Amino acid sequence: MATSASDLLESRILLYYCFTPIEDPIAVMLWQRTLCEQLGLTGRIIVSKHGINGTVGGKLGSCKQYTRKTREYPGFARMSFKWSEGGAKDFPKLSVKARDEIVAFGSPDEIKVDANGIVGGGTHLKPEAVNKLVEERGDEVVFFDGRNAMEAEIGKFKNAIVPDVNTTHDFIAELESGKYDDLKDKPVVTYCTGGIRCEILSSLMKNRGFKEVYQIDGGIVRYGEKFGDQGLWEGSLYVFDKRMHMEFSNDSKQLGHCIHCEAPTNLFHNCINEECRKQQLMCDDCASNPATAHCGRAECAEVGAQMAASSL
Ligand SMILES: [Zn+2]
Ligand SMILES: [Zn+2]
Repeated sequence: MATSASDLLESRILLYYCFTPIEDPIAVMLWQRTLCEQLGLTGRIIVSKHGINGTVGGKLGSCKQYTRKTREYPGFARMSFKWSEGGAKDFPKLSVKARDEIVAFGSPDEIKVDANGIVGGGTHLKPEAVNKLVEERGDEVVFFDGRNAMEAEIGKFKNAIVPDVNTTHDFIAELESGKYDDLKDKPVVTYCTGGIRCEILSSLMKNRGFKEVYQIDGGIVRYGEKFGDQGLWEGSLYVFDKRMHMEFSNDSKQLGHCIHCEAPTNLFHNCINEECRKQQLMCDDCASNPATAHCGRAECAEVGAQMAASSL
């Protein structure tokens, strides 16, 4: 393929994952690291015996070459890449690692993959099929948030159940707690940002007796691209880059509130206490005043008060 001017001038970010058996994750990790270094891509890639998960950025031409070279590995031939605005500047460095899991649910030995992906996961639904299911089955359908509870504070599917999890590691205990046993005979639609977390979550749910489990193809991102704020999604989408959140249209509902003064906001701020840094929803006024720029814990409030006093 010839190199065009735009290949050199423009930049992009690639987001992708693929579940496929990988004999030797270390070898794939080393190959991916060399490939990215040669192409000048930065970002983050994790390889495990179950597959690969990555976000990389760089010149448009380099991204094109990366997708071509990566698909040469037979297990990755069917991998789809999501292209988005941005580039190498969005990532401080290149990190390519081999781990036990590409998403840390703490279940590396429970997940089974074959050449078609995860074995025994939830049925994939395209965005249109999600709406059709709800039209046909009505209130029986339950949306189940596959993200960290914090992410749902600013946006979620209508009437979704938001499990009490701080990280994906908490899901198994949550599913086994008995809290959701009444959902085991209902149609449950799991969703997460781009779909990868639900690939695993939906299979963990099926293994624990949830009989009718679905997952949204391409996650909230693809659903939002299709229906914006005119469908079953409400609010903002939490994103893992410096934007922190995104909206699908100007009509998006504002679900979040400042933890200090209740003012509507969809922006998370780090706690002012350097040793905490917990992200909490705060309005701009509260976040810009050291006395209120804390996460709410007593020790952090004290740090904030001290900083406020010393800045007088
Ligand atoms: Zn406030
Ligand atoms: Zn704090």
